[in-house]
Amino acid sequence: MRIVVTGGAGFIGSHLTESLLLQGHKVVVIDNFITGSRKNLEHLAQSENLHIVEHDITKPIFLAEKIERIYHLASPASPIDYQKLPIQTLKVGALGTHNLLGMAKAQNARILLASTSEVYGDPEIHPQHEGYWGNVNPVGPRGCYDESKRFAEALVVAYRDFHNVDTRIIRIFNTYGPRMRLNDGRVVPAFISQALRGENLSVYGNGSQTRSFCYVSDLVRGMIKVMEQSDQNPINLGNPAEITIREFAERIITLTGSSAKLEFGPLPQDDPKRRQPDISRARALIQWEPEVSLEEGLKKTLEWAKINV
Ligand code: NAD
Ligand code: UDP
Repeated sequence: MRIVVTGGAGFIGSHLTESLLLQGHKVVVIDNFITGSRKNLEHLAQSENLHIVEHDITKPIFLAEKIERIYHLASPASPIDYQKLPIQTLKVGALGTHNLLGMAKAQNARILLASTSEVYGDPEIHPQHEGYWGNVNPVGPRGCYDESKRFAEALVVAYRDFHNVDTRIIRIFNTYGPRMRLNDGRVVPAFISQALRGENLSVYGNGSQTRSFCYVSDLVRGMIKVMEQSDQNPINLGNPAEITIREFAERIITLTGSSAKLEFGPLPQDDPKRRQPDISRARALIQWEPEVSLEEGLKKTLEWAKINV
């Protein structure tokens, strides 16, 4: 198939592109490199099946070739990135998603939206299942990202119901692995790079907030499975293994053998207190289960970070 990946030069997008090329597909990456980089695709550059288009998807784009699948991942994703780029973030979720849905409709292509666990906000239900509507502050510091993704989901559903576009929605929970920008502020690259540099680990709040970390290869396997099954309702993808941020910091210190200490700072406004995916739907629909343990995934990420720190 010929497959479009928006945001294909980003962290998850570059791993997805690699997997799709390995499966023998042709991949058209559309990216404006606002938070991604050509470097993430450098090792694939010799593939004649990879075509990279530099383009801001908030502006319309028309591709002459027949497209069969669209994975729509383009969006700033780390809290530091989207708070620096609030308008670009809202525009890519709204105008960018609109343009890609237009492409899906014109091309009769199937489109998958990479949504997020942030649609649940600071959740009052735990673990989070897809039926939960969420607890989002639209005017808080995370509003630009959360509402952009919530709008994108609503737009996808409108194109599905009004134009019969073949759509999929996944809600991705915290995912990590090689090629995350070490300075993107997200907790995995932040703690790993601090530990490798011998700096103290910047734990926000008292570290009792929880997250559940999924290794990128597990996520990408799930994404492709969701695309190739028939259910059009949102599906959570993430690893249910929940851990406090304090415990996570201690794991990083043990794994790196660093003598760094934990340094506690203020908890950012609206930081979700608990997050854990309920993946019953993914288990039932695509027989998907994360396979990479936190320890194994962190070791792989560390190997990469050591070379890139
Ligand atoms: P990333 O920042 O590494 O990748 C995003 C990519 O989108 C970058 O290459 C960036 O340049 C590109 N992009 C942004 N705006 C664009 C625009 N207007 N036009 C073209 N390209 C544009 O982030 P990531 O972690 O790889 O996230 C990928 C997707 O997955 C995002 O949609 C994000 O919301 C979603 N997601 C990620 C996580 C996670 O834990 N990594 C969790 C939930 C959801
Ligand atoms: N966090 C932290 N120190 C950091 C970066 C993040 O303690 O240097 C915390 C943050 O407050 C949140 C969790 O780690 O509770 C995950 O943050 P991240 O930015 O990775 O993503 P989020 O899940 O909040 O979108």
